[in-house]
Amino acid sequence: MLKKLAPVPSPPLTHAAVTCPFCGLLCDDLTITARGTQLTVMANGCPKASAAFKAADLPGPPLVNGQPASLEAALDAAARILQRSQQPLFAGLGTDVAGLRALLALAEPCHAIVDHLHGAAMARQVRVLQSRGLIQTTLAEVRNRADLVVLLGVDINTDFQRFAEICLTPAESLVPARLAARRVFQVGPAASKPRHAGVRVERVPCAAVDLRQTLSALRAELRGRPHRVGGRTRTGVTQLAHAIRAAQYTVIVWAPGQLAALDGDLIIASAGELIADINRERRAAGLVLGGNDGGQTALAVCTWITGYPLRLSFAGDTLDFDPLRYQTARLLGQGAVDALLWLSTFSAQPAPATPIPRIVIGNAASTLMAPNSVFLPAGTPGLDHPGQLLRTDAVVALPLRELRPTATPSAAALLLQLAQRLR
Ligand code: SF4
Repeated sequence: MLKKLAPVPSPPLTHAAVTCPFCGLLCDDLTITARGTQLTVMANGCPKASAAFKAADLPGPPLVNGQPASLEAALDAAARILQRSQQPLFAGLGTDVAGLRALLALAEPCHAIVDHLHGAAMARQVRVLQSRGLIQTTLAEVRNRADLVVLLGVDINTDFQRFAEICLTPAESLVPARLAARRVFQVGPAASKPRHAGVRVERVPCAAVDLRQTLSALRAELRGRPHRVGGRTRTGVTQLAHAIRAAQYTVIVWAPGQLAALDGDLIIASAGELIADINRERRAAGLVLGGNDGGQTALAVCTWITGYPLRLSFAGDTLDFDPLRYQTARLLGQGAVDALLWLSTFSAQPAPATPIPRIVIGNAASTLMAPNSVFLPAGTPGLDHPGQLLRTDAVVALPLRELRPTATPSAAALLLQLAQRLR
């Protein structure tokens, strides 16, 4: 009798020049191997990317009230929730360009309110942009042309982990003299001092709550006016003012999501005023680090399609943009919405707990097994299907690839099927 042969394991597939979708930097030089559905970063990933690719399990079956269901039955149940709702909220919005387009196409007939997972950070930045304007630049400009970079309260050890490698100490630059002369200052607490090897950081030590005061002191110092900041912060402010006077191109970097909720917008506004001051005699610009979980994509696509950024309501006769009123937590807390559609295909951020009916379109980490809910499994853009995302500096859309075989549909495909049921 013939002995049954064990199946020969298929060799891992190696993908080069992969775009990583797990933070707003969208590094596009990763090497990833795929053994079946298991993905491993082999080169050019940061610790955050390595953990995210490793943990990216495929989601299980669709669920209705926590019980496995066919995709058709789950889509029908989701459509019923939206049909019964008088005021739905579409939130999370962790998806790619096609997913956002499909979500907005559904938001209009459903008269939904839309908000992103990082809506608070976006609101901080957008408020300053709208009220005062900001001179902003790109990752490429920092990498190639800045000879002074000021990290303002931003922690690149925990997020945007390759920023130092890509922008502060790149292997090469279009303007080598600027790279050779580049100085890096960090304004903020000691814990956020960059730990990347090769970055020599000069510090302006101050507590996170004192960032605005420190910026005011720096503006005063540059104008030769008195200020009240003392101690080591004063020494650092004086040194940074000298460095700004000596630099040809200063870039100030901040991450709206890492600034305090209370005065984050005021810190950004102060940074904008400092940049305007410097530009009277030399060149300066700001660089915003953000856009995680498809945040920059959501902001851009919403603006392309509606003319408004997020947070936005389709409930009335006209579109209503209101970054204070249309906050997810506030709307849920006040009982102002009666159904939640939560879209999350990148992160492990679960849908907010709420007694109202919930539809979750998401990855394995977003699986929702609860009464009064529908879970629709979706692929992660850049892992399970192709797509595009906008980078944090909003000037580049990066292509995403399919890295592993899966039948899990994209969020865009699910939203399209949902929209068809509501016609
Ligand atoms: S820095 Fe961001 S985009 Fe780059 S590899 Fe890390 S998580 Fe991915």
